[in-house]
Amino acid sequence: MRAVATAMAMMLAGGAAAAPLASHPAAEAQALDLAQKAIALRSVAGPGNKTPEVAALFKAALVTGGFGPDDVTIIPVDDTAYLVARWRGSDPKLGPLVISGHMDVVEARPSDWKRDPFIPVVENGYLYGRGAADMKLDGAMAIASLIELKRQGFRPRRDIVIEFSGDEETRMKSSAIIAEQLSNAELVLNIDGGGGTLDEATGAPEYFTWQGAEKTYADFQLVVTNPGGHSSAPPRENAINQLAAALVRIGNYQFKPELNELTRAYFVKAADHEDPKIGAAMRAFAANPEDAQAIATLTANRTTVGKIGTTCVATMISGGHALNALPQRAEANVNCRIFPGHKPAEIMAELKRIAAQPEVSFTDVTEGSVANDASPMRPDFVAAVTKAVAQVHPGTPVFPSMASGASDSMWFRYHHVASYGASPTFMKLSEDFSHGLDERVPIANIQPAIDYYLVLLPELAK
Ligand SMILES: [Zn+2]
Repeated sequence: MRAVATAMAMMLAGGAAAAPLASHPAAEAQALDLAQKAIALRSVAGPGNKTPEVAALFKAALVTGGFGPDDVTIIPVDDTAYLVARWRGSDPKLGPLVISGHMDVVEARPSDWKRDPFIPVVENGYLYGRGAADMKLDGAMAIASLIELKRQGFRPRRDIVIEFSGDEETRMKSSAIIAEQLSNAELVLNIDGGGGTLDEATGAPEYFTWQGAEKTYADFQLVVTNPGGHSSAPPRENAINQLAAALVRIGNYQFKPELNELTRAYFVKAADHEDPKIGAAMRAFAANPEDAQAIATLTANRTTVGKIGTTCVATMISGGHALNALPQRAEANVNCRIFPGHKPAEIMAELKRIAAQPEVSFTDVTEGSVANDASPMRPDFVAAVTKAVAQVHPGTPVFPSMASGASDSMWFRYHHVASYGASPTFMKLSEDFSHGLDERVPIANIQPAIDYYLVLLPELAK
C-alpha cells in the first residue's frame, strides 16, 4: 500500500471547513496498540510464519470488543491462517458487507534496516516496522473502528464480515478460498488499496483515490525447438533467431489504447495533480482515446503507460546448450498486464499474430492470478466514500483509480463481486516504503481513519 504526513499538517488541512473531528480515544489507542503488537509478530511466509498468531491477536480484540467467539474463526492453510469475523445484521436476507485485508507481510532482513523491522517503533509521528503501511495499522484501525461502532450501540442491517487473508503477498491461496466462501457479498471494501495522497511540500491532503479495477496479470511462455546440429554448418532456421524475431515484433507493438468509465474519471481528475504537460495529455486522452499526441505522451511516461491499455514485455530468456552447437531450444517469458475486459487467451492470440513466427509456440503459464473485470462505479459506494472523506478531510478531491498490480480484490471480482480499495491512510508518494526498507506510516492517520470508518461502514451496511 501507500504513503503519509505530519500531524500538524493534517490537522491544519482537516480543520478548515470541516466539522471538528470527533475524538475516540479508546479506539485510537487500541488501533496503535494492536498495530504494534501485530508488527512484532513476524508474519512472513515460510518457516516460523507467525500469521496465525496475528489472527489470534485480532480475534482476542474482536471477542473482547463484543464479537461472539463463534462468529470469529481462524482457519489454518499450510503454514499460514486466515481470519473471518461476522457481525450479524438485522436482516439476514441481505448479502454481507465484506471488509477485506491481509495479515502477512513481505520478508524484511534486519541487517538491511536501520531498525529491526519486527520491533515496532513510534518516532517523530511515524510508526515504523514491516507491515506498518502494508497493512497492519490499516487492519488494526478497521478492527478498532468496528469495536467503536459496537461500543456506540450501532446495529448494522446487513452482516459486516471482516476477513483477513494470510498469504496475500505470496501465493494468495487463502485469498482465493475466502472470496469463494464470501461470493454472496453485496460489496467488498478492500482496506489494502486506494487511499490518500499528501502534498509533498506542505503535507496537506491533496487527493483521495478509491481503487475500482486492477489489470489482469498473465505470463506467456514462448518456445522454439529446432533439430540442432553442428554450428559450423548452420541452416537458415535457428531457434534463437526465430525467438528473437518474435520478441522484437512484440516489443515494437502497442496494444490499442483504451478507456473505461473508471479510468476516464481518473484521467480527468488526476490531471489537476500532474505536471501540466502530462495533465494536458490526460485530459486529451479522456476526451478522445485515439488522440495520437496524447497517447505518445502518456506512453512515454512511466506512471501513465500502464493506465492506457494492455502492456506486454519480455522478462526472461534462455536458449542453447553449448557454445559450438546449434540451439535445440530457445524460450522466453512475456509478462502482460491486461486492461480490464480482456481475457488472457485473447491477448495471447494477439501476441501470436504480431509475432508472425509460426515456429514459436505460445503457452499461458500464469500462476496465482485470475482474469477480472473492473468493478462498476456504483453510486451508493461512490456517495459513501465521498461523504466519509469529506467528513475527515473536507475539500479533498475523491476519484477512482485502476491499479497495475493485484490485490485480494482480484479474487472477488473474479466471482463478479464489486470490490473497492479505499484505505483511509494518507501518505506522501515519496514516503511509500511498502515492501521496502524502513517501512513507516504517519500515526496522524489514526484519528481521521476511525472517523472515516464511523461514517463509511454504517453507510455501506445499510
Ligand atoms: Zn498489502
